[in-house]
Amino acid sequence: MKILRYPDPLLLQPSIDVTEEYMPDVLATVPAMTRLMRERKGAALAAVQVGILRRYCLLEMHTTTAPKETIAPVLIINPKILLEVGRRTREFEGCLSLPLFWERMERSDEILLQYWDRDFIERTVSLEGIQARAIAHEIEHFSGTLQLDKLSVMAKAMYLKKLKKHIRA
Ligand SMILES: [Zn+2]
Repeated sequence: MKILRYPDPLLLQPSIDVTEEYMPDVLATVPAMTRLMRERKGAALAAVQVGILRRYCLLEMHTTTAPKETIAPVLIINPKILLEVGRRTREFEGCLSLPLFWERMERSDEILLQYWDRDFIERTVSLEGIQARAIAHEIEHFSGTLQLDKLSVMAKAMYLKKLKKHIRA
């Protein structure tokens, strides 16, 4: 398993919902996905980023009292944003599938999220800050959208130039 990078065509494919029957396959990928996400210090990782076109992702839940290595990332299945509660703010964001990418993206500060957990039980949770942003980002991956698609033509061209130079180096 490896993290796919732009311009891998799989990253532009839509993902489909996880069914209960498919759960063993999901759970089998969690250890390797956790390792990859943590090696690259990502806040979250979507299945499509490792080439699996299913709607699930891992999300780091940092707290001030426990280092993240001591907490397993949360498995988020079939997520859906029910409500955007907070203000919309523009913060810098990267993507493990877009090397060198670091741009401001506008997102809600707080969301109400519906998802299914590792036991395939439906849950609703309120997320704030980096977790709210990360989930909104992962949901875009499920529709085959990259942050790149949200840039102006000029900003996209600049990024692609930087990326080409990086690949040649
Ligand atoms: Zn991403």
